[in-house]
Amino acid sequence: MSFQTLGLHAALLRALADAGYAAPTPVQAQAVPAAIAGADLMVASATGSGKTAAFVLPALQRLLAERASGRRERFERGVPQGPRVLVLVPTRELALQVAKAAAGYGRHVQGLRVATVVGGVPYGAQLKALRGPLDLLIATPGRLMDHMASGKAVLARVQMLVLDEADRMLDMGFIDDIHHIAQALPASRQTLMTSATFAGPVGRLAAALMREPQRIEVDSHTDTHADIEQRLHWVDDLAHKNALLDHILTERSVEQAVVFTSTQRDADWLADRLAELGHAVAALHGGMPQGRRNRVLEGLRRRQLRVLVATDVAARGIDVPSISHVVNYGLPMKAEDYVHRIGRTGRAGRAGLAVTLAERRDFGMIQRIQRFTTQRIPAATIAGLEPKRAEPRPQPHAQKRPGAARAERAPANPRAERGAFHPRAELAPPSARSARVRSGGPAPGPRSTSARAAVS
Ligand code: AMP
Repeated sequence: MSFQTLGLHAALLRALADAGYAAPTPVQAQAVPAAIAGADLMVASATGSGKTAAFVLPALQRLLAERASGRRERFERGVPQGPRVLVLVPTRELALQVAKAAAGYGRHVQGLRVATVVGGVPYGAQLKALRGPLDLLIATPGRLMDHMASGKAVLARVQMLVLDEADRMLDMGFIDDIHHIAQALPASRQTLMTSATFAGPVGRLAAALMREPQRIEVDSHTDTHADIEQRLHWVDDLAHKNALLDHILTERSVEQAVVFTSTQRDADWLADRLAELGHAVAALHGGMPQGRRNRVLEGLRRRQLRVLVATDVAARGIDVPSISHVVNYGLPMKAEDYVHRIGRTGRAGRAGLAVTLAERRDFGMIQRIQRFTTQRIPAATIAGLEPKRAEPRPQPHAQKRPGAARAERAPANPRAERGAFHPRAELAPPSARSARVRSGGPAPGPRSTSARAAVS
Protein backbone atom coordinates (compact mmCIF):
# COMPACT_ATOMS: atom_id res chain seq x y z
CA MET A 1 0.00 0.00 0.00
CA SER A 2 1.37 3.45 -0.92
CA PHE A 3 0.06 6.96 -0.39
CA GLN A 4 -0.47 7.25 -4.18
CA THR A 5 -3.19 4.59 -4.05
CA LEU A 6 -5.20 6.59 -1.47
CA GLY A 7 -6.19 9.16 -4.07
CA LEU A 8 -4.39 12.08 -2.45
CA HIS A 9 -3.61 15.36 -4.22
CA ALA A 10 -0.05 15.85 -5.53
CA ALA A 11 0.58 18.70 -3.04
CA LEU A 12 -0.14 16.33 -0.15
CA LEU A 13 1.94 13.51 -1.64
CA ARG A 14 4.86 15.93 -1.83
CA ALA A 15 4.50 16.85 1.84
CA LEU A 16 4.33 13.18 2.82
CA ALA A 17 7.47 12.52 0.81
CA ASP A 18 9.14 15.51 2.56
CA ALA A 19 8.19 13.97 5.90
CA GLY A 20 9.89 10.75 4.83
CA TYR A 21 6.82 8.57 5.31
CA ALA A 22 7.19 5.44 3.19
CA ALA A 23 3.62 4.17 3.43
CA PRO A 24 0.33 4.94 5.17
CA THR A 25 -0.18 3.50 8.64
CA PRO A 26 -3.12 1.05 8.94
CA VAL A 27 -5.48 3.73 10.25
CA GLN A 28 -4.52 6.07 7.41
CA ALA A 29 -4.95 3.31 4.82
CA GLN A 30 -8.54 2.79 5.98
CA ALA A 31 -9.66 6.24 7.03
CA VAL A 32 -8.22 8.44 4.27
CA PRO A 33 -10.07 6.92 1.27
CA ALA A 34 -13.32 6.61 3.25
CA ALA A 35 -13.12 10.22 4.40
CA ILE A 36 -12.25 11.46 0.90
CA ALA A 37 -15.34 9.60 -0.36
CA GLY A 38 -17.36 11.75 2.07
CA ALA A 39 -18.29 9.19 4.75
CA ASP A 40 -18.83 10.04 8.40
CA LEU A 41 -16.22 8.10 10.39
CA MET A 42 -15.79 6.78 13.91
CA VAL A 43 -12.08 6.03 14.22
CA ALA A 44 -10.87 3.99 17.19
CA SER A 45 -7.13 3.99 17.03
CA ALA A 46 -4.31 3.93 19.55
CA THR A 47 -2.18 6.96 20.22
CA GLY A 48 0.90 7.10 18.00
CA SER A 49 -0.87 5.25 15.17
CA GLY A 50 -0.88 8.20 12.78
CA LYS A 51 -4.50 9.16 13.43
CA THR A 52 -3.82 12.91 13.08
CA ALA A 53 -2.84 12.55 9.43
CA ALA A 54 -5.82 10.21 8.98
CA PHE A 55 -8.16 13.19 9.37
CA VAL A 56 -5.87 16.11 8.44
CA LEU A 57 -5.10 14.69 4.98
CA PRO A 58 -8.79 14.32 3.95
CA ALA A 59 -9.45 17.79 5.36
CA LEU A 60 -6.69 19.28 3.20
CA GLN A 61 -7.85 17.24 0.21
CA ARG A 62 -11.28 18.80 0.59
CA LEU A 63 -9.80 22.31 0.61
CA LEU A 64 -7.70 21.52 -2.46
CA ALA A 65 -10.70 20.09 -4.32
CA GLU A 66 -12.66 23.24 -3.61
CA ARG A 67 -9.85 25.41 -4.91
CA ALA A 68 -9.53 23.31 -8.06
CA SER A 69 -13.26 23.63 -8.72
CA GLY A 70 -12.99 27.42 -8.71
CA ARG A 71 -15.83 27.62 -6.18
CA ARG A 72 -13.65 29.47 -3.72
CA GLU A 73 -15.48 32.53 -2.48
CA ARG A 74 -13.83 35.92 -2.65
CA PHE A 75 -12.89 37.21 0.72
CA GLU A 76 -14.36 40.60 1.56
CA ARG A 77 -12.50 42.59 4.14
CA GLY A 78 -14.42 42.94 7.40
CA VAL A 79 -16.85 40.13 6.54
CA PRO A 80 -15.68 37.02 8.38
CA GLN A 81 -16.37 33.84 6.46
CA GLY A 82 -15.18 31.32 8.97
CA PRO A 83 -13.37 28.04 8.33
CA ARG A 84 -14.21 25.16 5.99
CA VAL A 85 -12.88 22.61 8.46
CA LEU A 86 -13.34 22.71 12.24
CA VAL A 87 -11.30 20.39 14.48
CA LEU A 88 -12.30 20.20 18.14
CA VAL A 89 -9.69 18.87 20.57
CA PRO A 90 -9.64 18.46 24.36
CA THR A 91 -6.45 20.34 25.23
CA ARG A 92 -4.30 23.25 24.18
CA GLU A 93 -1.31 20.97 23.62
CA LEU A 94 -3.25 18.75 21.26
CA ALA A 95 -4.55 21.81 19.40
CA LEU A 96 -1.00 23.01 18.78
CA GLN A 97 0.04 19.51 17.76
CA VAL A 98 -2.78 19.21 15.22
CA ALA A 99 -2.06 22.72 13.93
CA LYS A 100 1.56 21.80 13.44
CA ALA A 101 0.58 18.62 11.60
CA ALA A 102 -1.84 20.59 9.38
CA ALA A 103 0.84 23.16 8.58
CA GLY A 104 3.29 20.33 7.82
CA TYR A 105 1.01 18.19 5.62
CA GLY A 106 -0.32 21.40 4.05
CA ARG A 107 3.06 22.99 3.38
CA HIS A 108 2.57 22.78 -0.41
CA VAL A 109 -1.06 23.97 -0.26
CA GLN A 110 -0.78 27.55 -1.39
CA GLY A 111 -2.02 30.18 1.04
CA LEU A 112 -3.35 27.66 3.54
CA ARG A 113 -4.79 29.42 6.58
CA VAL A 114 -4.73 27.50 9.82
CA ALA A 115 -5.69 29.02 13.16
CA THR A 116 -5.97 27.76 16.71
CA VAL A 117 -8.48 28.98 19.27
CA VAL A 118 -7.58 27.69 22.74
CA GLY A 119 -8.04 28.80 26.32
CA GLY A 120 -5.32 30.30 28.50
CA VAL A 121 -3.92 32.64 25.86
CA PRO A 122 -4.92 36.22 24.97
CA TYR A 123 -7.90 36.79 22.67
CA GLY A 124 -6.26 39.32 20.33
CA ALA A 125 -4.50 37.02 17.86
CA GLN A 126 -7.47 34.65 17.83
CA LEU A 127 -9.91 37.45 17.01
CA LYS A 128 -7.67 38.57 14.16
CA ALA A 129 -7.46 35.03 12.79
CA LEU A 130 -11.25 34.60 13.01
CA ARG A 131 -11.82 37.85 11.08
CA GLY A 132 -9.50 36.94 8.23
CA PRO A 133 -9.77 34.31 5.51
CA LEU A 134 -9.55 30.94 7.19
CA ASP A 135 -9.45 27.33 5.99
CA LEU A 136 -8.89 25.19 9.04
CA LEU A 137 -9.75 26.09 12.62
CA ILE A 138 -8.51 23.96 15.50
CA ALA A 139 -10.20 24.75 18.78
CA THR A 140 -10.84 23.65 22.32
CA PRO A 141 -14.62 23.75 22.92
CA GLY A 142 -14.63 26.23 25.82
CA ARG A 143 -12.78 29.04 24.07
CA LEU A 144 -14.64 28.48 20.81
CA MET A 145 -17.91 28.85 22.74
CA ASP A 146 -16.67 32.23 24.06
CA HIS A 147 -15.99 33.41 20.52
CA MET A 148 -19.37 32.13 19.34
CA ALA A 149 -21.16 33.92 22.18
CA SER A 150 -19.55 37.21 21.18
CA GLY A 151 -20.42 36.59 17.52
CA LYS A 152 -16.77 36.49 16.47
CA ALA A 153 -16.65 32.85 15.39
CA VAL A 154 -18.62 32.23 12.20
CA LEU A 155 -19.19 28.54 11.53
CA ALA A 156 -21.81 28.64 8.78
CA ARG A 157 -19.38 27.47 6.05
CA VAL A 158 -17.98 24.46 7.87
CA GLN A 159 -18.00 21.41 5.59
CA MET A 160 -16.08 19.06 7.84
CA LEU A 161 -16.18 18.69 11.62
CA VAL A 162 -13.52 16.60 13.35
CA LEU A 163 -13.79 15.61 17.01
CA ASP A 164 -10.32 14.44 18.00
CA GLU A 165 -10.06 12.39 21.21
CA ALA A 166 -13.80 12.68 21.72
CA ASP A 167 -13.68 10.43 24.80
CA ARG A 168 -11.32 12.85 26.48
CA MET A 169 -13.52 15.84 25.62
CA LEU A 170 -16.47 14.11 27.26
CA ASP A 171 -14.34 13.24 30.30
CA MET A 172 -13.51 16.92 30.59
CA GLY A 173 -17.19 17.86 30.61
CA PHE A 174 -17.47 19.35 27.11
CA ILE A 175 -20.58 17.41 26.07
CA ASP A 176 -22.97 20.39 26.11
CA ASP A 177 -20.44 22.63 24.38
CA ILE A 178 -19.95 20.05 21.63
CA HIS A 179 -23.69 19.76 21.01
CA HIS A 180 -24.01 23.55 20.99
CA ILE A 181 -21.14 23.94 18.52
CA ALA A 182 -22.45 21.15 16.27
CA GLN A 183 -25.86 22.84 16.10
CA ALA A 184 -24.22 25.97 14.70
CA LEU A 185 -22.77 23.99 11.77
CA PRO A 186 -24.48 23.17 8.46
CA ALA A 187 -26.37 19.87 8.71
CA SER A 188 -24.80 18.80 5.41
CA ARG A 189 -21.29 18.70 6.87
CA GLN A 190 -19.12 15.60 7.12
CA THR A 191 -18.19 14.47 10.64
CA LEU A 192 -15.14 12.47 11.72
CA MET A 193 -14.55 11.37 15.28
CA THR A 194 -11.53 9.74 16.94
CA SER A 195 -11.74 8.10 20.33
CA ALA A 196 -10.09 5.31 22.28
CA THR A 197 -13.55 3.81 22.73
CA PHE A 198 -17.02 4.23 21.27
CA ALA A 199 -18.76 2.61 24.20
CA GLY A 200 -21.26 4.56 26.34
CA PRO A 201 -21.47 8.35 26.07
CA VAL A 202 -19.06 8.63 23.12
CA GLY A 203 -21.20 6.21 21.11
CA ARG A 204 -24.31 8.23 21.97
CA LEU A 205 -22.56 11.45 20.90
CA ALA A 206 -21.54 9.79 17.62
CA ALA A 207 -25.13 8.65 17.02
CA ALA A 208 -26.38 12.20 17.62
CA LEU A 209 -23.86 13.95 15.36
CA MET A 210 -23.22 11.50 12.53
CA ARG A 211 -25.10 9.98 9.63
CA GLU A 212 -24.59 6.27 9.03
CA PRO A 213 -21.00 6.46 10.24
CA GLN A 214 -18.45 3.88 9.19
CA ARG A 215 -16.48 2.37 12.06
CA ILE A 216 -12.74 2.03 11.68
CA GLU A 217 -11.09 0.10 14.47
CA VAL A 218 -7.41 -0.39 13.94
CA ASP A 219 -5.95 -0.68 17.39
CA SER A 220 -8.60 -0.85 20.06
CA HIS A 221 -7.95 0.91 23.35
CA THR A 222 -6.84 -2.40 24.80
CA ASP A 223 -3.85 -2.51 22.51
CA THR A 224 -0.69 -0.94 23.73
CA HIS A 225 1.89 -0.18 21.11
CA ALA A 226 4.00 -3.14 20.06
CA ASP A 227 7.09 -0.94 20.02
CA ILE A 228 6.79 -0.09 23.71
CA GLU A 229 8.34 -2.39 26.30
CA GLN A 230 6.62 -2.15 29.67
CA ARG A 231 8.15 -2.82 33.09
CA LEU A 232 6.79 -2.67 36.60
CA HIS A 233 8.98 -1.99 39.64
CA TRP A 234 7.42 -2.46 43.08
CA VAL A 235 8.80 0.14 45.47
CA ASP A 236 9.02 0.00 49.26
CA ASP A 237 8.82 3.72 49.97
CA LEU A 238 9.56 7.16 48.55
CA ALA A 239 13.31 6.85 49.05
CA HIS A 240 13.32 3.56 47.14
CA LYS A 241 11.21 5.10 44.37
CA ASN A 242 13.59 8.06 44.06
CA ALA A 243 16.62 5.76 43.96
CA LEU A 244 15.03 3.76 41.12
CA LEU A 245 14.11 6.91 39.22
CA ASP A 246 17.64 8.28 39.59
CA HIS A 247 19.05 5.00 38.31
CA ILE A 248 16.71 4.91 35.30
CA LEU A 249 17.29 8.54 34.32
CA THR A 250 21.05 8.17 34.39
CA GLU A 251 21.06 5.21 32.00
CA ARG A 252 22.79 5.93 28.73
CA SER A 253 19.87 4.59 26.73
CA VAL A 254 17.69 7.52 27.85
CA GLU A 255 17.53 9.92 24.96
CA GLN A 256 14.65 11.91 26.43
CA ALA A 257 12.22 10.89 29.17
CA VAL A 258 8.77 11.94 30.34
CA VAL A 259 8.17 11.31 34.04
CA PHE A 260 4.51 11.37 35.05
CA THR A 261 3.30 12.47 38.47
CA SER A 262 -0.21 12.28 39.90
CA THR A 263 -0.42 15.93 40.92
CA GLN A 264 0.79 19.33 39.76
CA ARG A 265 2.48 19.83 43.11
CA ASP A 266 4.45 16.62 42.71
CA ALA A 267 5.46 17.66 39.18
CA ASP A 268 6.94 20.93 40.48
CA TRP A 269 8.59 19.24 43.43
CA LEU A 270 10.12 16.45 41.36
CA ALA A 271 11.34 18.80 38.61
CA ASP A 272 13.12 20.88 41.29
CA ARG A 273 14.64 17.76 42.81
CA LEU A 274 15.88 16.44 39.46
CA ALA A 275 17.27 19.87 38.55
CA GLU A 276 19.27 19.85 41.77
CA LEU A 277 20.69 16.49 40.70
CA GLY A 278 21.91 18.07 37.48
CA HIS A 279 19.26 16.98 34.99
CA ALA A 280 18.11 19.27 32.18
CA VAL A 281 14.51 19.10 33.32
CA ALA A 282 11.27 21.07 33.43
CA ALA A 283 7.76 20.58 34.74
CA LEU A 284 4.66 20.70 32.52
CA HIS A 285 1.19 20.91 33.99
CA GLY A 286 -2.13 22.64 33.60
CA GLY A 287 -1.42 25.13 36.40
CA MET A 288 1.32 26.78 34.36
CA PRO A 289 0.65 29.77 32.09
CA GLN A 290 0.34 28.81 28.43
CA GLY A 291 3.44 30.78 27.40
CA ARG A 292 5.59 28.83 29.81
CA ARG A 293 4.04 25.54 28.72
CA ASN A 294 4.86 26.35 25.12
CA ARG A 295 8.45 27.19 26.02
CA VAL A 296 8.84 23.93 27.89
CA LEU A 297 7.50 21.94 24.92
CA GLU A 298 9.80 23.82 22.56
CA GLY A 299 12.71 23.05 24.91
CA LEU A 300 11.77 19.39 24.74
CA ARG A 301 11.55 19.37 20.95
CA ARG A 302 14.89 21.17 20.65
CA ARG A 303 16.42 18.73 23.10
CA GLN A 304 17.43 21.46 25.51
CA LEU A 305 15.50 19.34 28.00
CA ARG A 306 16.26 15.70 28.57
CA VAL A 307 13.58 15.09 31.18
CA LEU A 308 10.02 16.39 31.33
CA VAL A 309 8.01 15.95 34.53
CA ALA A 310 4.35 16.11 33.54
CA THR A 311 0.79 15.54 34.64
CA ASP A 312 -1.72 13.70 32.45
CA VAL A 313 -3.69 16.50 30.82
CA ALA A 314 -0.62 18.60 30.00
CA ALA A 315 1.16 15.71 28.35
CA ARG A 316 -1.58 14.68 25.95
CA GLY A 317 -0.61 15.39 22.40
CA ILE A 318 3.13 15.52 23.05
CA ASP A 319 4.64 14.06 19.91
CA VAL A 320 8.43 14.00 20.16
CA PRO A 321 9.94 10.91 18.50
CA SER A 322 13.16 11.13 20.59
CA ILE A 323 11.27 10.35 23.82
CA SER A 324 12.84 6.98 24.57
CA HIS A 325 11.47 6.49 28.11
CA VAL A 326 8.24 7.10 30.00
CA VAL A 327 8.34 6.72 33.77
CA ASN A 328 5.17 6.52 35.84
CA TYR A 329 6.37 8.06 39.10
CA GLY A 330 2.82 8.62 40.27
CA LEU A 331 0.07 6.43 38.83
CA PRO A 332 -2.75 7.86 36.69
CA MET A 333 -6.26 8.22 38.05
CA LYS A 334 -7.76 6.28 35.14
CA ALA A 335 -6.52 3.13 33.49
CA GLU A 336 -6.89 4.58 29.99
CA ASP A 337 -4.50 7.41 30.90
CA TYR A 338 -1.82 4.76 31.34
CA VAL A 339 -2.16 3.93 27.64
CA HIS A 340 -1.95 7.59 26.69
CA ARG A 341 1.08 8.09 28.91
CA ILE A 342 3.11 5.22 27.55
CA GLY A 343 2.12 6.27 24.03
CA ARG A 344 4.43 9.30 24.44
CA THR A 345 7.28 6.91 23.63
CA GLY A 346 7.60 4.33 20.88
CA ARG A 347 6.46 6.93 18.35
CA ALA A 348 7.02 7.00 14.61
CA GLY A 349 8.29 3.44 14.52
CA ARG A 350 10.94 3.85 17.26
CA ALA A 351 11.27 1.57 20.27
CA GLY A 352 10.38 2.88 23.72
CA LEU A 353 10.49 1.77 27.33
CA ALA A 354 7.67 2.51 29.79
CA VAL A 355 8.56 1.97 33.44
CA THR A 356 5.99 2.08 36.22
CA LEU A 357 7.13 2.65 39.81
CA ALA A 358 4.30 1.36 41.97
CA GLU A 359 3.85 1.50 45.71
CA ARG A 360 1.83 -1.20 47.43
CA ARG A 361 -1.15 1.14 47.68
CA ASP A 362 -1.09 1.35 43.85
CA PHE A 363 -1.88 -2.35 43.59
CA GLY A 364 -5.55 -1.79 42.76
CA MET A 365 -4.72 0.65 39.97
CA ILE A 366 -2.12 -1.71 38.52
CA GLN A 367 -4.80 -4.39 38.40
CA ARG A 368 -7.26 -2.03 36.72
CA ILE A 369 -4.64 -1.05 34.13
CA GLN A 370 -3.91 -4.70 33.42
CA ARG A 371 -7.60 -5.45 33.02
CA PHE A 372 -8.03 -2.45 30.73
CA THR A 373 -5.10 -3.31 28.47
CA THR A 374 -5.70 -7.06 28.91
CA GLN A 375 -1.94 -7.33 29.37
CA ARG A 376 0.24 -8.05 32.34
CA ILE A 377 2.97 -5.50 32.98
CA PRO A 378 6.05 -7.66 33.58
CA ALA A 379 7.59 -7.07 37.03
CA ALA A 380 11.27 -6.16 36.95
CA THR A 381 14.06 -5.38 39.41
CA ILE A 382 17.35 -3.51 39.22
CA ALA A 383 20.39 -5.13 40.78
CA GLY A 384 21.13 -3.51 44.14
CA LEU A 385 17.73 -1.78 44.22
CA GLU A 386 15.44 -4.78 44.68
CA PRO A 387 12.37 -4.21 46.87
CA LYS A 388 12.68 -5.56 50.39
CA ARG A 389 9.03 -6.53 50.54
CA ALA A 390 7.45 -9.28 48.47
CA GLU A 391 5.40 -8.45 45.38
CA PRO A 392 1.78 -7.76 46.42
CA ARG A 393 -0.78 -10.40 45.48
CA PRO A 394 -4.53 -10.07 45.07
CA GLN A 395 -6.49 -10.69 48.28
CA PRO A 396 -9.95 -12.17 47.86
CA HIS A 397 -11.57 -9.34 49.88
CA ALA A 398 -9.34 -6.51 48.80
CA GLN A 399 -10.51 -6.51 45.18
CA LYS A 400 -13.76 -4.68 45.69
CA ARG A 401 -12.36 -1.23 46.18
CA PRO A 402 -8.97 -1.34 44.56
CA GLY A 403 -6.76 1.70 44.81
CA ALA A 404 -8.92 3.39 47.44
CA ALA A 405 -5.82 5.01 48.87
CA ARG A 406 -5.34 7.16 45.79
CA ALA A 407 -7.27 10.17 46.94
CA GLU A 408 -4.60 12.78 46.37
CA ARG A 409 -5.18 14.50 43.04
CA ALA A 410 -4.43 17.85 41.45
CA PRO A 411 -5.24 20.58 43.94
CA ALA A 412 -8.32 22.63 43.06
CA ASN A 413 -6.24 25.77 43.20
CA PRO A 414 -2.99 25.00 41.47
CA ARG A 415 -0.10 26.56 43.26
CA ALA A 416 1.52 29.67 41.91
CA GLU A 417 4.36 28.97 39.52
CA ARG A 418 7.78 28.21 40.91
CA GLY A 419 10.55 28.44 38.31
CA ALA A 420 9.82 25.15 36.66
CA PHE A 421 12.05 25.68 33.63
CA HIS A 422 15.64 24.72 34.26
CA PRO A 423 17.65 24.98 31.09
CA ARG A 424 20.95 23.23 31.46
CA ALA A 425 22.84 26.52 31.26
CA GLU A 426 21.28 27.75 34.49
CA LEU A 427 22.13 24.69 36.51
CA ALA A 428 24.38 24.74 39.52
CA PRO A 429 27.53 22.61 39.27
CA PRO A 430 26.50 18.98 39.34
CA SER A 431 26.67 17.23 42.66
CA ALA A 432 28.73 14.09 43.09
CA ARG A 433 25.63 12.03 42.43
CA SER A 434 24.72 13.86 39.27
CA ALA A 435 28.15 13.19 37.83
CA ARG A 436 26.50 10.02 36.56
CA VAL A 437 24.14 12.08 34.43
CA ARG A 438 24.93 11.72 30.79
CA SER A 439 26.73 14.76 29.50
CA GLY A 440 26.16 16.49 26.20
CA GLY A 441 24.75 19.94 25.74
CA PRO A 442 21.63 20.95 23.93
CA ALA A 443 21.50 19.70 20.38
CA PRO A 444 19.60 21.44 17.62
CA GLY A 445 16.10 20.11 17.10
CA PRO A 446 15.95 17.18 14.71
CA ARG A 447 13.16 18.70 12.70
CA SER A 448 12.49 22.18 11.50
CA THR A 449 9.79 23.96 13.42
CA SER A 450 9.30 26.59 10.75
CA ALA A 451 5.95 25.04 9.88
CA ARG A 452 4.61 26.67 13.01
CA ALA A 453 5.09 30.08 11.47
CA ALA A 454 1.99 29.42 9.38
CA VAL A 455 -0.04 28.81 12.51
CA SER A 456 -1.67 31.75 14.17
P1 AMP B 1 -0.36 10.40 15.75
O1 AMP B 1 -0.93 9.05 16.07
O2 AMP B 1 -1.19 11.14 14.78
O3 AMP B 1 -0.09 11.18 17.00
O4 AMP B 1 1.07 10.19 14.99
C1 AMP B 1 2.16 9.51 15.59
C2 AMP B 1 3.49 9.77 14.87
O5 AMP B 1 3.58 9.05 13.67
C3 AMP B 1 3.77 11.22 14.51
O6 AMP B 1 5.11 11.49 14.88
C4 AMP B 1 3.63 11.28 13.02
O7 AMP B 1 4.48 12.28 12.48
C5 AMP B 1 4.08 9.89 12.62
N1 AMP B 1 3.44 9.41 11.38
C6 AMP B 1 2.18 9.65 10.96
N2 AMP B 1 1.94 9.00 9.80
C7 AMP B 1 3.06 8.31 9.50
C8 AMP B 1 3.44 7.44 8.42
N3 AMP B 1 2.59 7.13 7.43
N4 AMP B 1 4.69 6.91 8.44
C9 AMP B 1 5.55 7.20 9.44
N5 AMP B 1 5.26 8.01 10.48
C10 AMP B 1 4.05 8.57 10.52
